[in-house]
Amino acid sequence: MRAMVLTAQHEPLRLMELPRPEAGPGTLLLEVAACGVCRTDLHVVDGDLTEPKLPLVLGHEIVGRVAAVGAAVTGWEIGERAGVPWLGATCGSCRFCTTGRENLCDEARFTGYHIDGGYAEWASADARFCFRLPDDLSDVEAAPLLCAGLIGYRALRAAGSGERLGLYGFGAAAHIVAQVEIGRAHV
Ligand SMILES: [Zn+2]
Ligand SMILES: [Zn+2]
Repeated sequence: MRAMVLTAQHEPLRLMELPRPEAGPGTLLLEVAACGVCRTDLHVVDGDLTEPKLPLVLGHEIVGRVAAVGAAVTGWEIGERAGVPWLGATCGSCRFCTTGRENLCDEARFTGYHIDGGYAEWASADARFCFRLPDDLSDVEAAPLLCAGLIGYRALRAAGSGERLGLYGFGAAAHIVAQVEIGRAHV
């Protein structure tokens, strides 16, 4: 498959031919339809995040269609659309994983950093961390929601019932959350 590959930090991505990933146990094989570009991708290329797998396929705002379902995966069918976010895998058994706070897991592994991501024709992803996507969003519209949208919405929910939400800086997350209406008087 064709993929844009990071072979060394501080170097441009290179178009390369890589073997198509497989749907291993617990994973989905996705035919990538769209993948957003996140500021974190630039941090990985620029060396601000220091421990990527190399060579690496970046990209953690993946929208794809399920082409194969790995062993032990339940609830996903071939042809369904799936979204893949930054949080790619966790241990499943620590005190954070067992209380709905997997993002704090010490053994968390991230899409497009520890795990090959979506700047490619195909990607595989742990089915437990894939999202179903509503039909009224196109592939391109849905992709940025998988990181920028998710971050802003999570912050909005965590902010509780205050009447105002301050947005400091105005990047990918803020410009999306500013469009969310959940009955707040002022955002
Ligand atoms: Zn991101
Ligand atoms: Zn854990």
